[in-house]
Amino acid sequence: LGARRVADLRLDFPVFRDAGEHAPAYLDSAATSQRPARVLDAEREYLEHHLAPVHRGASAAVGRSTTLFEDARATVARFVGAGERELVWAENATDALNIVALGMADASAGLGGAEASRFALHPGDELVVVEAEHHANLIPWQRLAARTGAVLRPVRVDARGLWGPAELAAVLSPRTRVVAFAEVSNVTGFLAPVAELVALVRERSPEALVVLDACQSVPHRPSDLAASGVDFAAFSGHKMLGPNGIGGLYGRAELLDALPPARTGGSTITRVTLEHAEFLPAPHRFEAGTQPVSQVVALAEAARYLDELGMAEVARHESALAARMAEAVAELPGVRLIGPPPGEERAGLVSVVVDDVHAHDVGQYLDEAGVVVRVGHHCAQPLHRALGVTATTRASAHVYTTEDEVDRFIDALGGVRRFFGVAGAGEQTGVVA
Ligand code: PMP
Repeated sequence: LGARRVADLRLDFPVFRDAGEHAPAYLDSAATSQRPARVLDAEREYLEHHLAPVHRGASAAVGRSTTLFEDARATVARFVGAGERELVWAENATDALNIVALGMADASAGLGGAEASRFALHPGDELVVVEAEHHANLIPWQRLAARTGAVLRPVRVDARGLWGPAELAAVLSPRTRVVAFAEVSNVTGFLAPVAELVALVRERSPEALVVLDACQSVPHRPSDLAASGVDFAAFSGHKMLGPNGIGGLYGRAELLDALPPARTGGSTITRVTLEHAEFLPAPHRFEAGTQPVSQVVALAEAARYLDELGMAEVARHESALAARMAEAVAELPGVRLIGPPPGEERAGLVSVVVDDVHAHDVGQYLDEAGVVVRVGHHCAQPLHRALGVTATTRASAHVYTTEDEVDRFIDALGGVRRFFGVAGAGEQTGVVA
C-alpha cells in the first residue's frame, strides 16, 4: 500500500483520526479489527432510513430492506469468491463452523433424509483436525465425534507449530470424513497450501469434506473460496473491518442444499404441518429467525472498502510488516519466534515467547509502552501445549498498521527482559529450534 497510502487511509478510521499522533500502536487486529467511518455510517444509514424486516410481508419497505440485505450478500459473496446461494450468514466464524458440525450431527441422527446421508457419521469414522487449530475449529468436531462415535485424528505440528502435506498424509485414511484446518494460523502466521492439501485429501480420502477456517485469511488476502476446492469455509465480519455479530459460512451449493439446518424456525421453510417441516434451499434454510440486517449491510461496505484497496496490495503490505517484525524479533536475545522462521512466507502476525517473563507481564509492559498486543493462549491451547509453553505474545497487522507501529513494538519488546531483571550475558537469540 505504501506509507503515504496507509497514512491517508488511517484518516478513514475515527479511532486513529481522533487520537492523532499519540494513538497507541494497535497490533491486535487478529483479535478484532478497527472500522472505517464508512462502515459505521452504512450501518447507521440503514437503521435510520431503511429499517424494516426482510423476507417477510408485502410492503414496499420490506421489499427495499430485502433488496439491501440480498445485495449485501451478493457483494460479500463476490468478495470471498462464492456464489450467492453459497454464502450463509452466521454470527461469526465460530457459529459458521458449528452450523456444519451440528448439521452433520443431525444427519447422523437420521434427520434430513436420504440426501443428508452423505453427512452422516458412523462409529469409527475419522475427523482430522490440526493440532494448531483455534478452539472454534476444534471443539465443534470433538462434540461431533462424541455424538456419533467418530474418532478425532490430530495432525501434529513441529516445534515451531508448523505442519504440511506430509503431516496431513500421515493421518488421512479412507475413513476420514472431515478435514478441518485454518488457511492462516492465528498464532503462528503459517499459511496453509490449500490447493495442495485439498488435492491430497481428494486422493486419499474421497469421502472427506474439507472445512477451511478462513477467519484469518479472508480479511487479509485475496480469497476465491469456490476455486480453492474446499467444501466449507468460515469467516468473521469483525476481523475484516466490519461489524460484530456477523460472519459467513461458505459451502458448495449442492452441499448446503442437503445439509440439515441445525437451528430451525421461521423463514427457513417451504411447508409446515403440525408434524413436519420442509426446508428452503440454501442459503435461507440456515437463516432462522430475524437476521442481523444492519450488520450485513455494513459488512458489504467493509468488503467494498477492502476491495477498493485491493486484497493483493493488502496482503503485500501486511506480509512486509510481518517480515520486518519476524526478522527483528529473531535477533532479540531471550525472545523466541513461533511459526515460520525469518525469510519464510508468513501472514501479517508474529507470536513470541520471552524467556523467563510471563506473557501477561510482557503484555502489560508493552501496554504501558503504548503498544497493544494480545497475550495468552489465543484460543489454541493444544498448540501451546505442543510448543511447551502456556502463553505467547502476539502482534498482528491490518491495512492501517504502519512501520512505525511495528518498530515501536520491536523496541518495546527489546526492553522487556531488562525491565524484569532477567537479561543476562550470553543468552540465546532466535528461533524455536
Ligand atoms: N478461527 C481463527 C483462526 C481465529 O483467529 C478466530 C478468532 N480469534 C476464530 C476462528 C473465531 O472467530 P470468532 O470469535 O469471530 O468466531
